[in-house]
Amino acid sequence: MIILGIETTCDETGLALIEFKNKKFRILNHKLRSQYLVHAPYGGIVPILTAREHRKNLPILYRDLIHEINFDEKKIDYLAFAIGPGLPPALLAGKDFVFRLAIKLKKKIIPVNHLIAHFYSVLIKKDYFSLWQELRKIDFPALGLLISGGHTILVYFESLEKYKKIGETIDDAIGESLDKSARILNLEYPGGPKLEKLAKKGKPIFNLPYPLMLTNNFNFSFSGLKTAFWELVEDIKRYNKLDESTKADLAASYQKTAFEILLIKTKKAYEKFKPQSIIISGGVASNQFLRNLFKKYFSNQKIIFPQKSLATDNGIKIAFCGYFFLEKALEARNLDINSNLKI
Ligand code: AMP
Ligand code: MG
Repeated sequence: MIILGIETTCDETGLALIEFKNKKFRILNHKLRSQYLVHAPYGGIVPILTAREHRKNLPILYRDLIHEINFDEKKIDYLAFAIGPGLPPALLAGKDFVFRLAIKLKKKIIPVNHLIAHFYSVLIKKDYFSLWQELRKIDFPALGLLISGGHTILVYFESLEKYKKIGETIDDAIGESLDKSARILNLEYPGGPKLEKLAKKGKPIFNLPYPLMLTNNFNFSFSGLKTAFWELVEDIKRYNKLDESTKADLAASYQKTAFEILLIKTKKAYEKFKPQSIIISGGVASNQFLRNLFKKYFSNQKIIFPQKSLATDNGIKIAFCGYFFLEKALEARNLDINSNLKI
């Protein structure tokens, strides 16, 4: 069986062809185009520009995806499409493309929840791999932490099919908070990876607040942390020049605080739900400092991260996740987006 996966929930246009044969999985080809250069001058994502870019890039990437491997598109069995959550203009651009292609190929569309696809991504390997072997990596019940540009969510997984959300951010997402604090340090969008690089040269010498730590739930808050960081940077600028070494110390301090907030809440959930393994997914999961922090604390527990190159949004995880929801496949005319889709 061959599934074409399509991701257009935010600022990444992703397409992937995945083959599933005898319980083995193979990525036949995939294409990913990030729009960060388009949004960088604005310091964040401009929703309407995402749609323009997706509309422009989807046909080009699809043509390359097929032609590069001399693939006959008639061999596609299903189209898997991330219907949400995401930016409405971006999702609509993707929907138009998927709708037309599904009509042309006379194939059904599997609607995929982008958030669930993030969790399933920890099972994906870049080469030929056995699903059975990969599934053994996760012991249930499992605790899932999704940390991405738009989401910060804790999920309790009784099994891969049965899950419930137990906590989430009440304001900014962790990736968004890293991007905004990076911007305060004049780093380019997307700031997460640049903040990580800069933080390596600094020491976490500045104290920042740990919001919502005393509440009896598993929710997060990052907007107050960002404001405190902004005030700290403004204070420093008032009396000193913001030199490179101070900037590195600030980056290290922000990163440490933000990730410790994630760790403290995850610990709390771990103690209550006593899971057998922990799954951490989303773009921020590519951060090595975060990986080390969690691995150190949960050193005796099974903790699973996605391959770094697969952590951020892409079409591979949408195609892969689609395989588990084949029974949801629908005719193109019934396809709809859901920008507020929940877990
Ligand atoms: P996603 O929404 O899953 O595509 O992830 C995008 C988010 O991940 C953005 O907010 C990025 O800044 C963030 N991100 C990507 N790589 C890193 C990294 N190495 N460290 C911290 N954040 C990162
Ligand atoms: Mg993204």
